[in-house]
Amino acid sequence: MNSLAEYLVEAERNHGHMCPGQVLGVRMAMLGCRLVGIEEPKIGKRLIVFVEIDRCAADAINTVTGCRLGKRTLKFRDFGKLAATFLNTETNEAVRVVAVESSRELAKQLFSHLPTKKEQQLEAYKTLPDENLFIWQSVNVTLSDSDKPGHPLTRVECVECGEGINDHREVFHDGRTLCRACAGQRYYEVLEGDCRSEVV
Ligand SMILES: [Zn+2]
Ligand SMILES: [Zn+2]
Repeated sequence: MNSLAEYLVEAERNHGHMCPGQVLGVRMAMLGCRLVGIEEPKIGKRLIVFVEIDRCAADAINTVTGCRLGKRTLKFRDFGKLAATFLNTETNEAVRVVAVESSRELAKQLFSHLPTKKEQQLEAYKTLPDENLFIWQSVNVTLSDSDKPGHPLTRVECVECGEGINDHREVFHDGRTLCRACAGQRYYEVLEGDCRSEVV
């Protein structure tokens, strides 16, 4: 594992700016990896991270762990919490780490000589011990075969729209195989007359 300072340089580059979320995310990921016994997170695909927020810290967790959506090593669980679970798939050890609310107040108190909230938090999150920033607990996470890295287990076509579906994400409805969108879970609305597939 690299040092905090090294990861912060990398995090700023990866994320586009330096912010308290980068520091917390880097610290959270370093702690999480250590807690599940992974010293070199970027080697191999032993580590799976379940991240519970899609804000700044999520990028920092990617910087440290190398876990990515496209490798199936990063799982997004949209809970809106600055928290993540680190799973070592070799040992099955998993630890959930959550940032504590009180660290904001602590940053304000301890670094009141710094002019802005951002600077206070940056400094606090770089220097305070893990115990002041996070709580963590061992958890049990079951990763199904269809969520693991590697080749897709299955591929079927939706009988309604014809689009391909990997890894058992299809839904069976009245004996028909449907994608989640056609089964009523569509997050978009198709606009009439805007199909581009036939334009060359
Ligand atoms: Zn940011
Ligand atoms: Zn469909």
